[in-house]
Amino acid sequence: ALHQVPDVSLPRYVRVNTLKLDVDSALLQLREKYSVQKDDLLSDLLILPPGTDLHDHPLVKNGSIFLQGKASSMVAPALSPEPGWEVLDACAAPGNKTVHLAALMKRKGRIIAYCSYNVTMIIDHFHFVLLPFKLNSSSDIQALNEDFLNIDPKAPSYSKIQAILLDPSCSGSGTAATRLDHLLPSKAEGQDTDIERLNKLSAFQRKALEHALLFPAVERIVYSTCSIHQIENEDVIQSVLPLAESYGFKLANPFPEWECRGLPVFEGSENLVRTDPAKHGEGFFIALFARKDETTTPHN
Ligand code: SAM
Repeated sequence: ALHQVPDVSLPRYVRVNTLKLDVDSALLQLREKYSVQKDDLLSDLLILPPGTDLHDHPLVKNGSIFLQGKASSMVAPALSPEPGWEVLDACAAPGNKTVHLAALMKRKGRIIAYCSYNVTMIIDHFHFVLLPFKLNSSSDIQALNEDFLNIDPKAPSYSKIQAILLDPSCSGSGTAATRLDHLLPSKAEGQDTDIERLNKLSAFQRKALEHALLFPAVERIVYSTCSIHQIENEDVIQSVLPLAESYGFKLANPFPEWECRGLPVFEGSENLVRTDPAKHGEGFFIALFARKDETTTPHN
């Protein structure tokens, strides 16, 4: 079963925190010691040789670069919020993707990040990477200790939300740590509890996605997991798709050039993005729902 352990021949990716350092400066500094390339899909991602250990590197320590894999670095760009937009990060803790959203928005706009617990963890993280941001009620980023499902989508303060990132709790079956779980004795319990857990997660994921669809001005919603299970991925999208379509959303394709796609279990699943743990280091899933202004806003 060890074939699922991440291949040490996989390159090491780092994501540049462009709020602190531009990509070319990071490239130059890293090239003093390592051979570094730019990623061809993501402009803020750099590729280093397999096994490069950067944990103690000054750029890592001061938050200028993150040791973040390619798959997880694809999620915020799939949403691609524009500077000035109002954005919700529905399940934000510990805030990695919130910070990425802020970078893509070049500090312009408004991000509201929810987490059902441990908001201080998010705020610490923000302070670390976003020092110039003020974190009070009038700031550009708000971290709120709230259950996303309890947020009223029709409340006036959400009337201009244009994009939602939904990265809900999942089984984590696409991440290395979870894929090694089967080596631990406690995993000998058997399949039933796993299936029960997956059903529960899937029900929550579906509910959260349906909730995201209710925000009146939303144009783009990204749903992502770090799971490899169909029940948390394609099945969630397929079950929500009719409702989404009734609100004017379509499944859009965030990375047309990406080869690894959703499992072919329904028409349109070729728009879905998967990453393969063996090939890409992590097993992620990304779906993008999009609708045009004119299909939703009766502004004529
Ligand atoms: N997007 C995060 C990042 O990149 O750092 C990781 C998110 S993690 C997969 C899911 C998070 O959602 C967990 O921190 C969990 O506590 C939180 N969560 C679960 N249910 C929630 C809810 N109903 N409302 C808000 N947050 C929730």
